[in-house]
Amino acid sequence: MPQEDLDAIVAEVARDMRAHLGEGKVADYIPALARVDPRQFGIAVVTCDGRVAVAGDGDTPFSIQSVSKVFTLVLAINRLDEALWKRVGREPSGSRFNSIVQLEQELGIPRNPFINAGALVVTDAVLAGGAPSEAIADIAGFLRRLAMDEAVSIDPEVAASEEATGYRNASLGYFLRAFDNLHSPVPDVLEVYFNQCALRMTCRQLARAGLFLAQDGLDPLNHMQVTSPERTRRINAIMMTCGHYDASGEFAYRVGLPGKSGVGGGILAIAPRRAAIAVWSPGLCEAGNSLVGQLALQRFVALTGWSVF
Ligand code: GLN
Repeated sequence: MPQEDLDAIVAEVARDMRAHLGEGKVADYIPALARVDPRQFGIAVVTCDGRVAVAGDGDTPFSIQSVSKVFTLVLAINRLDEALWKRVGREPSGSRFNSIVQLEQELGIPRNPFINAGALVVTDAVLAGGAPSEAIADIAGFLRRLAMDEAVSIDPEVAASEEATGYRNASLGYFLRAFDNLHSPVPDVLEVYFNQCALRMTCRQLARAGLFLAQDGLDPLNHMQVTSPERTRRINAIMMTCGHYDASGEFAYRVGLPGKSGVGGGILAIAPRRAAIAVWSPGLCEAGNSLVGQLALQRFVALTGWSVF
């Protein structure tokens, strides 16, 4: 698609979203997120041949929250390979992202790596018994390299805010530990987890960072083989089936792209062989996914035809 068409499409999506700005409910269980102005919307598309189109607030940094779970999953799979799947499943959960009940029923093996319990196991695998500060630096460095932007940083206020109020995540952590499914001390795992969630990125940086997922694990712009083609296919499959929690089926139906959302209002979506797309708008739907972000991706796919189906 020529650059002018791509520019026109993202501009049209941003224009269409104006009527919806402020819809949904900003995550308020993390106090630092509750203060974000909900009337914002950004979109960025980075194509496999290096074209970039940005509209709206696509250069405003936001808290990527659970979108970080895709990147830690890549690091954990690269480290543990198949052994990771003994500790976490890969089925949609059908429950809220921070549900505790299911973990008890399933004896401490979280349904998938994208709900909080599963992400804590993944973070534990990345931590691998080391120092939290090193794992945090590794994760942030990984995102900076992928985004090719040193400006990617962790928001200490958001990390502290999550730590101060993260009783549910702490409960999940101790519960996992009781089933012997966390190997590092629970406070260490939580520290890394809260910091990875507090990564601040723009849509432009996030789309750039996710591009390898559209191209067999090989970043087409800096030629870094981030992970293998087979693992890339599988990560995309898990994004499609589990990336939007209990609304993953709805997202597949409406958008038809592998995607991962975060309660900061960001969504990273992958159009295989074509592009990575990041959208952001803070208001969330019931399931905890950006309401306007989902609408925007639906509109984007209608205009480009870039669904995998
Ligand atoms: N940091 C958030 C939490 O653990 C991430 C949740 C999310 O983005 N869905 O609750």
